[in-house]
Amino acid sequence: MPIFEFKCSTCQEVFELLLMNDKDKVELICPKCNSEELERVMSATHYAMGAAGGGMKSQTRTCPSGSCTTYEVPGPAS
Ligand SMILES: [Zn+2]
Repeated sequence: MPIFEFKCSTCQEVFELLLMNDKDKVELICPKCNSEELERVMSATHYAMGAAGGGMKSQTRTCPSGSCTTYEVPGPAS
């Protein structure tokens, strides 16, 4: 099922929304600050294909203190 990633332009929070079907209209607001200023984040597949847009990939992970967002910059592995 389709998972869409969004990034909040206000607090930079990255989150995923699971859209079950088109009829199920989901409110597109940031779960952290309730901002509606969101930008669509392309999937990792698109990043791998070399999509433009800063070249940074953000990833939200679950960590002991909640959810952490890390950024991965494409380049040679160290
Ligand atoms: Zn936010």
